[in-house]
Amino acid sequence: MYGHIRGQDNAVARLKTLRRLGKVAHAYLFTGPPGVGKHTTAKAFAGALLCDAGGETGGACGICRQCRLFQSAAHPDLQMIGPEGASIGIDQVRRLNAAVSRKPYNHRHVVVIDAADVCTDQAQNAFLKTLEEPPGAAVFILVSDRPEALLPTVLSRCCEVKFRRLGVDLVAEELVQRHDVPAVEAKAAAALAGGSIGRALELHTPAAAALREKVLAVAANPALARVNDKTLFAGRAEARQWLDFMSLWYRDLLLYRLTGNTGLIVNTDRLQEIKQAAYTASQLLKAVESVETGQKMLRANVHQRLVMEGLTARLASVFQKDSSRA
Ligand SMILES: [Zn+2]
Repeated sequence: MYGHIRGQDNAVARLKTLRRLGKVAHAYLFTGPPGVGKHTTAKAFAGALLCDAGGETGGACGICRQCRLFQSAAHPDLQMIGPEGASIGIDQVRRLNAAVSRKPYNHRHVVVIDAADVCTDQAQNAFLKTLEEPPGAAVFILVSDRPEALLPTVLSRCCEVKFRRLGVDLVAEELVQRHDVPAVEAKAAAALAGGSIGRALELHTPAAAALREKVLAVAANPALARVNDKTLFAGRAEARQWLDFMSLWYRDLLLYRLTGNTGLIVNTDRLQEIKQAAYTASQLLKAVESVETGQKMLRANVHQRLVMEGLTARLASVFQKDSSRA
């Protein structure tokens, strides 16, 4: 069960030990960047908790009756919930509360709540009662890449298990071995994905590749960015991707300007352009900072149109000023 999880040895070892020693708490919060194995690990942990023999190795045995039920996704004591639409609502939590208040089929209920941070406050409050007085040996596993969005009262009742970013080489290897991505593309996607397999897979789509081309064209000449270009404002997800691509591009330019080293460059297919770019370090630093500001604004729910208009105007002025000075 834990066999498919890569690069999260600390978290996995800790969960196995807890299970083996029978020192399992009522609630866990799995945190870390998106796409690094939190959900997969939560499922493996759930399997180990349900397994009748899990106390021996800390993992699921894979052969007992409980494991077979779990593997066929039919274990009556396992509840998995996640967003329906944009959020996890009060009705879902009420159904969950009702389910775990019944006597378990075997010895405990296990609940996995994916993207727990999108629980409405109302839903979190409804869940809190169950968390305060967990029925029997029930275990709740909350998974979140934005734990700051959870109510402090919920946070304080969970043991946090941290998941880390994966190394670029490991992400690339996963893409090649498990997702049939060609090696060269896998390397670029992995480098751009900042240690997340999920993100790397998103970046590998033709749509993402097309978006990157547009971003690099705007980066090359922000003054010409058409602020009414629909792709700038198609949605928050696109805007986020825009800013990620842009941030990596300016970082590459800055790194090369400062170190002359190409080993750290992410946009490896654009080496020539990066080497020939004539920007100053100060311009590039300002550009990196401007993009970071844009990313912060987007996270703070500022409308993507405002963010992108502000950013392209700022970049145009950053690169304009110095070129007139030169
Ligand atoms: Zn088993």
